Amino acid sequence: MEPTIERIVSRDVAIPLKEPFKTALRTVTTAETVLVAIYLSNGEVGYGEAAPTPVITGDSKASIHYIIDDLIGPKLIGMSLSNSEAIKQLIDTAAVHNSSPKAALNIAINDLLAKQYQAPLSEVLGGFRQQVVTDYTVSVGTSTEMISHAKRLISQSFHTLKVKVGSDSEQHDLQKVRELREAVGPEIKIRLDANQGWHPKQAVTAIQAMEAEKLAVELVEQPVAASDFEGMAYVTQRVNTPILADESIFFRCGCRSPHSYGWV
Ligand SMILES: [Mg+2]
Repeated sequence: MEPTIERIVSRDVAIPLKEPFKTALRTVTTAETVLVAIYLSNGEVGYGEAAPTPVITGDSKASIHYIIDDLIGPKLIGMSLSNSEAIKQLIDTAAVHNSSPKAALNIAINDLLAKQYQAPLSEVLGGFRQQVVTDYTVSVGTSTEMISHAKRLISQSFHTLKVKVGSDSEQHDLQKVRELREAVGPEIKIRLDANQGWHPKQAVTAIQAMEAEKLAVELVEQPVAASDFEGMAYVTQRVNTPILADESIFFRCGCRSPHSYGWV
C-alpha cells in the first residue's frame, strides 16, 4: 500500500550566528526559522524549512504556523505520496502569497520523494551538476570592517563575494566597492545586492561609475524597489553590468514560487 501523510508538525528553531548579518533592511543575530516535518504512514519523515522574514516576504512566524498547521496541513492528511504533484498543487493554490510556508511544505515533500527513490534530491530534480559555486555575503559595515570580513572569507576559500550596498548614498557605496576591489585584487568575483535601496537614477550613477573605474562587478541584484519594474528596466537599459531581480520576483510569481527567502 502506498504510504500516506499521517501527521505534520511545525516548530520554531533559533540558531545564534557567529557574527551579525547586516543588510540595508535589517540586522540579524540569530537565524530564526520554522522547521516542518511531514510524517508518512510507513514511518518516513520529510523535512522542510521556512524563514520568517516579514520585511522581505511578509511572512511572520505566526503566519507560517497558521498556513502550515491550520490552513494547508489538515488538507494534506491522508494524501498519498504517489500523488506528489497533486499535493504540490494543493500547497500552491491553498493561499495566494505566503511563499515561505508553501516552500517549506514543498521542500518536505521533495525530501520524502528523494527518500522514497533512495536517491539524493539533486538527482530526483534532474542531477545536472554535482557542484555549484556559491557566494558569501560580506556584512554591511565600515570599509575596514568589510575588508577584514572579505579577507576572512577569502581565507576560507570563498572566491565570490556578495556585497550589500544601497544602505547609504551611491557615492558611499562606490567608495566601498572601490576599496574592497583594491583590497581583494582582481581574481575575486564581487557581486552587489542593493536590496531595493537605490532610486533608479542613483543606481545608474553608481553602476556606471563602477564600470568607468573598471571595478569588475559581476552583477547587481535588486537595485530598486521590488514593485518598480519600470525602474528595473530603466537601470538595465543604461548599464552594461547584468541586473538581477530578487525581491521583484514576488510580484511576478509570488503565488507559485517554491522558494524560501531566508538569506537573500
Ligand atoms: Mg538579494
